[in-house]
Amino acid sequence: MLKAVSERDERSRLRGELIRCEGRLWLLELLQSGCMQLPIITIEVGGQEIRADRRWNQGLLDPEVRLEGGREPQTVDEERHCGRFCYYCASLTPPVRVQHRMVDCPKRRRANAREYLPEVMAEARAELKRMRQAAEEKLALHRKASEEVRVQKETLLDSSLWGWPLMTSDDL
Ligand SMILES: [Zn+2]
Repeated sequence: MLKAVSERDERSRLRGELIRCEGRLWLLELLQSGCMQLPIITIEVGGQEIRADRRWNQGLLDPEVRLEGGREPQTVDEERHCGRFCYYCASLTPPVRVQHRMVDCPKRRRANAREYLPEVMAEARAELKRMRQAAEEKLALHRKASEEVRVQKETLLDSSLWGWPLMTSDDL
């Protein structure tokens, strides 16, 4: 019995952990996809104004820019032309073109600058709160429904008990 209880505790602990992990992943996803709200920043590469790829800077798998035919850049030169340089360093004065992502940028870290906009964080919070509220409401409805089923069952059980002739020890 004790073992069963501790296994159940462990399962509910793991379930809780899973829920928290999913919440963190959701938040990260919302913050990362919010990078498209960052203003466009360009830097001159070989006489051409090239936009820093915001999705690549966030470390997202699907970048903003690819080469023709959806090909991934193979050389440093191709990478530059796809805007794969640090968004943060490109926004400095004077702009610097560096071959790392904004999420990994040591200068950004030193400056204590966030890799997302404050309004994106506020939106993400609001979105997660909305999701929590919707889940709580559904849970409350579900609880109400199961409570009703329980009461119904008890009533049925009571009435069926009363419907049976009372047994006496003589019947056994
Ligand atoms: Zn940088």
